[in-house]
Amino acid sequence: MKAWRQHFHQYPEFGFEEKRTADLIAKKLVSFGIEVHQSIGKTGVVGVLKCGTSNRSIGLRADMDALKIEEQNELAYVSKHKGLMHACGHDGHTTMLLGAASELAKNRNFDGTVYFIFQPAEEHGLGAKAMMEDGLFSRWNIDSVYGMHNLPGLAAGHFTTKPDAIMASESNFEIEIIATGGHAAMPHKLTDPIVVGAQIVCALQTIVSRHLSVVEESAVISITEFITNGTVNVIPSHVSIKGDTRSFTDHTLQKVKKAIEQVVKGQCLSAGVEYKFHFSTSFATTINTPEETDIAIKAAVKTVGLSKVNGKGSPITFSEDFAFMLQERKGCYVLIGNGMADSNGMPLHNPHYDFNDEILMTGAQYWVNLVEGQLGK
Ligand SMILES: [Zn+2]
Ligand SMILES: [Zn+2]
Repeated sequence: MKAWRQHFHQYPEFGFEEKRTADLIAKKLVSFGIEVHQSIGKTGVVGVLKCGTSNRSIGLRADMDALKIEEQNELAYVSKHKGLMHACGHDGHTTMLLGAASELAKNRNFDGTVYFIFQPAEEHGLGAKAMMEDGLFSRWNIDSVYGMHNLPGLAAGHFTTKPDAIMASESNFEIEIIATGGHAAMPHKLTDPIVVGAQIVCALQTIVSRHLSVVEESAVISITEFITNGTVNVIPSHVSIKGDTRSFTDHTLQKVKKAIEQVVKGQCLSAGVEYKFHFSTSFATTINTPEETDIAIKAAVKTVGLSKVNGKGSPITFSEDFAFMLQERKGCYVLIGNGMADSNGMPLHNPHYDFNDEILMTGAQYWVNLVEGQLGK
């Protein structure tokens, strides 16, 4: 598994371009004696392993895509694809699911069907939907789905999850301010989108603090870009402010969306400028169903013992497109600790991040225990 993981690490591929990765996964699954379907949602792979006579089934999902980051690790297996890197550990996720597939195909200690779902393009929230649009849940009868992601900062091989919302929704917005602009020496003869834009950035900070209940609602609003068409002595006529917001319920999300537009509208009205507001949700909230969360916790406890499993973990403001699968099927998403120290504690999406090979066996064993627990003979 270590060799597979380091091989995937050397050849990272961007979302929907995981051709080499998918081919290698398919080849391995075939060698384990597993039925393989390729090109599900462009580059997705589905492996089907049936054993016994039961109609019961389970779907295990791993993501395969890498990020457009230039790796800064000095590793023997450093990325060979310039500008691309497995900085989110999807090389490890793919490997753990392959390890489980190999073990389950060998021992066949279950009664039912296991679907191994290798998903493309998680990073931009498009891969899960693409596989579903390509018939993931209509071509195959998958009762429930389970996902797993590594988490730096959590001790290696520990598990954390929780029922209900575990990962946030992600929405992105753009505020366009349209003014007259003009000579920097004559601001009284024009409308200035910079001043109103700056006021909007500050006013948006009041949404979380003044509109949301500190007990019941939580959200993050971050402004990430402020772009103008001005120059050193020219006040711009156009400002574009872009940002990102995360929350854990649809109710909070709708409240945040409404409040942002209200702030923009009021500020622009007071400054006498026009605006356009664009808002789109790219990731839904990841919601674990209670019964399947219990099943996942049991499998984790069986794998590493009670002391290393937190079944009442905190929700995380990262987002996950596995959320879309959980909108259609019951299931649970768990996090496995990537380790605390050195490179294993490096955050996700960091050019020094590396998946911790010491947890490969633990993750694979969790999958095996989950299947054997759920589809026990
Ligand atoms: Zn990521
Ligand atoms: Zn990831």
